[in-house]
Formats: sequence, C-alpha cells, structure tokens
Amino acid sequence: MKYCKKCIMPDTRPGSVFDEQGICQACKNYEKRKFINWEERKNELKIICDKYRRDDGYYDCIIPVSGGKDSHLLVYMMKEKMGMNPLLVTVGDPFTKTKAGEKNFKNLGETFNCDHILFNISTDLFRRVTKIAFEELGEPLKFVEAAIYLVPFKIAVKLNIQLVVFGENSAYEYGTTDKENYYANDYIYNIFKSINIDFWLQRGISKKEMNSIILPAQEEINKTRPEVIFMSYFYPWSSMTNLRIAKRYGFKDLTHEWKREGCIEDFEQIDSLAYLVHLWLKYPKFGFQRTSDIASRRIREGLLSLEKAKGLIIQNDHKLDQKALDDFISFLGYTTKQFWGITEKFWNTNIFKKINDIWQMRRECVDEFKRS
Ligand SMILES: [Zn+2]
Repeated sequence: MKYCKKCIMPDTRPGSVFDEQGICQACKNYEKRKFINWEERKNELKIICDKYRRDDGYYDCIIPVSGGKDSHLLVYMMKEKMGMNPLLVTVGDPFTKTKAGEKNFKNLGETFNCDHILFNISTDLFRRVTKIAFEELGEPLKFVEAAIYLVPFKIAVKLNIQLVVFGENSAYEYGTTDKENYYANDYIYNIFKSINIDFWLQRGISKKEMNSIILPAQEEINKTRPEVIFMSYFYPWSSMTNLRIAKRYGFKDLTHEWKREGCIEDFEQIDSLAYLVHLWLKYPKFGFQRTSDIASRRIREGLLSLEKAKGLIIQNDHKLDQKALDDFISFLGYTTKQFWGITEKFWNTNIFKKINDIWQMRRECVDEFKRS
C-alpha cells in the first residue's frame, strides 16, 4: 500500500491516480481551485438556471436530496440564491433513522418551502438486494446507490423537468479523474451501463423489481432531455462550509444523539444507523474507510495536520460502530456471528494477516503508513 504524500489517501482507493512524486489526483485537483474564478462560474450557473427557469409556476429543476448538510446547501443555492422552483426527490432506505436524520429530512421541505417526493424501494426487495450485494460483493447498498442517481433522473423525464442538480462530482473531488465539467449526464449513463442486470436476474430479482435502476427508453428521454449538473463545479465544495450554511437553515448534527465509533465527525452520513456498515466494508477490502476519507479531505482543506490525521486513523479507521452493526444485522436477519462469517472472504490478504484469529494490518503496510 502506498499513501499520498500530502493527504495520506491510500492507493487502494478504487480508481485512484498518483503522480511520480506520490501525490494523489484529488490533492492536485484541490490545488487547481486557487486559479478558478468562482464569480465566473456562478455566472455560468445563472445562465443555466435562466435557460430552464419557468414562469408558469411549474417546477424548473429537480434536486435529489438525502436531508444531509449537502442537500441543505443544494436547496439553498438553487432556491435562495438562484431563485429556482425546485422539486426535491429523495430515494429512501428502510434502515432505522436517527432523530437528527428525521428532523433534517422534514426541515428541508419546511425551511425552504419546497414540494418533496420520497421514493421508497419496496422493503422486501431492499432486504433481498442488500443481502445479495453484501454476501457476494461486500457492497450492501450497491443496488440502492444506483437508484439514488437514476430515480431522480427518471422522475425528471416522466414529469418533464429539464434540470437535475446533484452535489459533488465525486470522481473529480476524490481524484479518479483530472477532468472537471459541470455536465453530469454521462455520469448518470455510466452508472446505468455499469449495472449488471443479469447478475440480479440470476439471483432471483425479477425485471419488474428493477424498475428503479432501469432507465426509460431513449425516445422517452429525448422528449424531455433533462440536463444533469454537478453543483461542485460552480461553488467551492467544502464539508465545513456546507455544514455552516446548512446549520443556519436548521440542519442538526449528531452531537446530542450518537457518538459513532470509527468516525471523527458527527455530521456526515448521519441519516440512518446502518449506513456505516456499508462504508466500513471498504476496510477489509482496501485497508481504509471513513476516518481516512474525512482526514484526507481535512488535510487538503488545511484543517488537519498530517501527524494528527495519522493518529486519528490509527485510533479509529478499523472500528465498526456497534449500534450501526446491530441495526444492519437485525434488519437483514443475521446473527453477529453470521455477519463476521460473511465478511471473512473480503479481507484482502495483501494488506491483512490473521494473527491469533484476528485480522491485522501487515507490518509492511503499517510501516509504509507511518513513513508517509
Ligand atoms: Zn492526496
């Protein structure tokens, strides 16, 4: 394992790109921000909004939202700053919600005075696809994560709404590409193309049940031709700035509710309990998870030192929160023993070695991490 010399992001992150000096693409993309004229980009956003702005009272854009701080930022930008009339669309999951998650979800529609569609995948289907994706791929929410992107696009097509606004371009922000563009239609099509329909059919999921991840026919898409954009192109995307703005509009974090093991903050991915299990499963496969992700971003933003980040990662990155695990296994019907039995096959033996029946990071990986 190699780690970025600036932000200690590991090269096991899927799609990560490093230069010859050992600097990751995410750090290089972040550096480019200094040369961006944000006023110009804000004008570009205004031009796009003006193109789709309607005066007949109908919705002029769809904003896919979870209820989190980034959702608050998106609605603030589009409704308060750009004066658009958005329809909010949420693809929910049936895991147990946190109190903050419930409040934030309601707060979005109320504070910004927006109509809001909640799309729930059938709970029975959710349980089956989540179990399949967990047991075979170690990615429990693979099906649902595709739906999170595709459902708002499908609703835009069906309701004839021509603009869809997503938050961050994660491929650019987290360094799997050096190309930046606001245009996100290709991103949506790539998610659609990456779905292996046969995989699900062979495991007993019927075509009818896959409606949420199958795009409409091209002729139907052509009637509306929704344009999909990333807000992170127009605005210097930052967790901490987004949080500050979201809080001004009533966003609640987990400060008074839940201290999560393996996390170094209390305001990211806080909507439901079990989602952390999905994030944690990166650890056995790639040797890092949530703390590393957050620490890398904080280092880039100049909010955390490399040395402090290393300490936090060593202390936290291996931990799976007990409450998240309990919710995950009780919802899907596993015992704790069964859960750990299933995860056995995901441990990457290039990174981990079983010592006294416990998977531990190999000495050479730990040494490389400390040297970085
Ligand atoms: Zn980096």
